[in-house]
Amino acid sequence: MAPPARRLAAAVVLALVLVLVARLAWPEPKVSPDAPLDPTVALRLTAWEEAAEVPLGVEGAWRLRDEEGVVLQEGYQLEGWLRADATGVQVGPYLTGRDRVRIEPAGDLALVVGDDRCPGVLDVGVVRDRDGPLGLTLVLELPLEDYVVGVVSAELSSGAPGIAAALEAQAVAARTWALWTLRRRGGPLRADPRDQAFAGAQRWTTAARDAVRATRGQVLTWNGDLLPAFFHAWCGGGTADAADMRFLDHDLPPLSGTADPECRDAERAWVEVVSAERLDRLARRLALGDWLRSIHAVDRDPHGRVLRFRLVGSERHLEVSGEELRARLGLPSSLWLSADLRPDGALVVRGRGRGHGIGLCQVGALRRARAGWDRDAILAHDYPGAVVAPASPAALRP
Ligand SMILES: [Zn+2]
Repeated sequence: MAPPARRLAAAVVLALVLVLVARLAWPEPKVSPDAPLDPTVALRLTAWEEAAEVPLGVEGAWRLRDEEGVVLQEGYQLEGWLRADATGVQVGPYLTGRDRVRIEPAGDLALVVGDDRCPGVLDVGVVRDRDGPLGLTLVLELPLEDYVVGVVSAELSSGAPGIAAALEAQAVAARTWALWTLRRRGGPLRADPRDQAFAGAQRWTTAARDAVRATRGQVLTWNGDLLPAFFHAWCGGGTADAADMRFLDHDLPPLSGTADPECRDAERAWVEVVSAERLDRLARRLALGDWLRSIHAVDRDPHGRVLRFRLVGSERHLEVSGEELRARLGLPSSLWLSADLRPDGALVVRGRGRGHGIGLCQVGALRRARAGWDRDAILAHDYPGAVVAPASPAALRP
């Protein structure tokens, strides 16, 4: 080998050795670039909305930072109270003098807020008016997949045998709905059924964790975009059309409603009594007069769910959506079978279903899982035509 060629070969060997050393010193990240991302979700702990003080524990090492990221305090173990003080947030014995702080535990699942063990870090703010502090707002920042475990644990009782496919379907729906809502709203999700119920980690079950792991990063899509994957407790005989219900301003085939005949008598029809006082209050609030003469269903969906009600008051009448009346009267659903006025003025309503009726029906999903349906078949029944796919990087960066 001629000397220049030998020098070149030596240089190549040296370069390879240097690359190898560099790789040993700075190992490649273990996560492959194809692995689904796990973005952070902001979750408002609404159970503590505007509370003046909240019991807080932190296990292991922790840091307290201000809004700019400056470390205000470091410590090990904490057990005490979060308080809204005239000067800012008080964390245990520490007066931070700031209206917004972050509590960052070093370990996983190291926060205890009230009775709830929580993953992630806690953002604490003081709400105040001119007279002083009104209370605290708590926003948990946690990994999406942990959030979905908390939702599945809260939304479906996961201890029963033979329901793994239903839990997986619920995990995909909950993940999809969360990403769709975060993208649309921009702000935090609420940790209650107005968005999705969420259980602290002390209530997480092995079955819920398994369902989330088995579906990691998977979402429901329609035409390549995230589906607004609404779900509810019990359809009562068929799911609702999201556009008819005014949950969407356009038709979406996977959310146009589907028959679920076995759910007609899956549970017995409910009977609720709405007091005369409550009806009178409703009449006054809607400016219909001092009392309500009658309530009629003017439009129903194919499964009997009332889409529009006509309320006739002592002075005026008005049409309202089934969902609005369900919410105002605190009834389980708008799938009314009968409504009779009693002599004392109370309204006796018989109905089926629980919840708005759109998308995945939990009672139906559990029944289908026990009958041997797999996750995709359960999702295909309640979201016909939707495609289960890994969430795109764009969907994961809300
Ligand atoms: Zn159903």
